[in-house]
Amino acid sequence: MSSVLKTLPALTVRNLLSTPEVARALHFFETNAEGITDEQIRICSIPASPFNEHERAVYLSKRFSELGLSEVEVDEEGNCLGLLEGSSRSPLMVVSAHLDTVFSKETDFTIVRRENRLLAPGIADDGCGLAALIALAQVIRTEQIPIEGSILFVGTVGEEGEGNLRGVRYLLTKGRWATKVNSFLSFDGPGVDRITNRALGSRRYRVELVGPGGHSWGDFGVPNPVHAIGRAISRLAVYPAPKEPRTTFNVGRIEGGTSVNAIPGRATMEVDLRSAAESELRRLDAFFRRTVREAVDEENVKRRAGDPELRLKLDLIGERPTGETPSDSPLVELAIEATRMLGFEPRLDQSSTDSNLPISLGIPAITLGAGGTSGYSHTLDEWYDPRDRDKGLKRGLLVILGMTGMK
Ligand SMILES: [Zn+2]
Repeated sequence: MSSVLKTLPALTVRNLLSTPEVARALHFFETNAEGITDEQIRICSIPASPFNEHERAVYLSKRFSELGLSEVEVDEEGNCLGLLEGSSRSPLMVVSAHLDTVFSKETDFTIVRRENRLLAPGIADDGCGLAALIALAQVIRTEQIPIEGSILFVGTVGEEGEGNLRGVRYLLTKGRWATKVNSFLSFDGPGVDRITNRALGSRRYRVELVGPGGHSWGDFGVPNPVHAIGRAISRLAVYPAPKEPRTTFNVGRIEGGTSVNAIPGRATMEVDLRSAAESELRRLDAFFRRTVREAVDEENVKRRAGDPELRLKLDLIGERPTGETPSDSPLVELAIEATRMLGFEPRLDQSSTDSNLPISLGIPAITLGAGGTSGYSHTLDEWYDPRDRDKGLKRGLLVILGMTGMK
């Protein structure tokens, strides 16, 4: 069978389904459902908070080795990698899921089973993606599916929040595989109809204002960092963000001050700016930075004579590029066909995932759900229901085999 680039995606998927190895592999996901869930439980009970994914990475790399993957390593950034080599090293497809969760170090990652549901922080996001990596590597090995290209399985660090895509960024710009990757597939969360081919961009800032501080009565007139931040927020709050392309902003955290009757010496805020379109994101970004500067200037202009000015520190703490893998690219078309072949209506969408980074580098990339259902993502009440997980894994396998090709 030739690779997808030479045939129509629908034909590719149909041809795949007619081969005995693939038929057996698809069956494997049904008969091994319990084993896959057990693996997910093992993975998710290993704590993984932002910048503390190491233990989970080590476990995953151990599993990669046991499954017979080669070149297994935890790279300098903390990603864990394993190669499933086909007859050739190219095309090379990265198949990934993220190791990190949004939860702090103190979080209890113990899994509770309640009827069909598994409850634990990060159990779905991205526990089901990590379980998918193991199941897919296992099935291709056990059923000896003769792939043409190769697959690099990767558990990435730093997908969430302030991780700022550091894992995938290192993998694709600095790591030793950086220039060799031809396509990218990330499993993130549950579901079987969603195909994320558009990257939602964001910029995140931490604003810090430092001034002399003083007594609320005696030093009145000293520039007040909380007042300046309040001024900046009130202007940002009325920014005319367009509905289309969807553009949003959020002041997510403010801090500062020590007492009701003290002029604060310091105040900070953290801000998240997003847009579906790069041009709108840039416009909002410019507005925000100008607004902060003006708010600080105003506070400084009206300060008491002789007092020092407020000092502004504006740090970009997160930056995720926008962009898209065109809906008529072979990778997206394959995903659409595989979704339909399994009886679901494909839904193209836009989100912020590890795929943002490859998309910005011009590498075809999509993010898929790994099957099953979930709720309360990013909260301590997160749950995952593994029923119908096999459908997500089947779809993933068809997309992967369509891209790597089979002998
Ligand atoms: Zn996720």
